Amino acid sequence: MLDQITDLYKEAFSWYDPKRAVPPIHVTFYPYIGINHTIRIRDGQVFVRIGQVCDEMPLSSHKGLAYILVGKLLRKRIPSGAREVYSAYIRSDAVRLRATENKRARGRKVITTSKGLVYDLDQIFEDLNSRYFRDLIPKPALTWSARKTYRILGHHDATHGHITISRSLDSAEVPHYVVEYVVFHEMLHIAHPTKHLNGRRYNHTPAFRRDEKKFEYFEESERWIERNVRKLKRAAKRD
Ligand SMILES: [Zn+2]
Repeated sequence: MLDQITDLYKEAFSWYDPKRAVPPIHVTFYPYIGINHTIRIRDGQVFVRIGQVCDEMPLSSHKGLAYILVGKLLRKRIPSGAREVYSAYIRSDAVRLRATENKRARGRKVITTSKGLVYDLDQIFEDLNSRYFRDLIPKPALTWSARKTYRILGHHDATHGHITISRSLDSAEVPHYVVEYVVFHEMLHIAHPTKHLNGRRYNHTPAFRRDEKKFEYFEESERWIERNVRKLKRAAKRD
């Protein structure tokens, strides 16, 4: 099965980039919590981790997933057919159920730094991923910052695939939707990688800004942050 899946990734590479030699590809199933997959390149080799919940997925849907992940890695336009065959399987009740069960089972054991005093970043990420991204954002490492920063509330480190959220927001005085909004913004940095044009870097492209407004509490969040900057600053100074 893994060999056949690996072949699908090779196929996807040559489909997107017929002129380039297909790099060595390693595919494994990984016990991610929920529905989650990752693809990365290290030393010219490609490592694909497919969420364990998909270990019974039919090859046709694996093909869809292969085109999605490779397309994202190469930053190419992903054919809509690929998304369709993959998401048809992901949306099925059996998969959803398995995903929740395994989340519950692992939730008890796993201790991560993403759990703050009030808010759990992993949980917020998973929830946003299914609400806004059809679970397609590969899960980064999510951590609360060591110090309470107030000017920068979130940061996405594309090189290491980290999202850091300011510990200032891990407080009962901060509404849940504000924390979601900051995490959502950082997730958009994964969905819209930095564009390079004439030697300039563009992080917040018009497409990024358009998607940002799709967040249900966009206005409320912006307003809350604007009104509470001073409060966050005072809390940071006391820290
Ligand atoms: Zn940003």
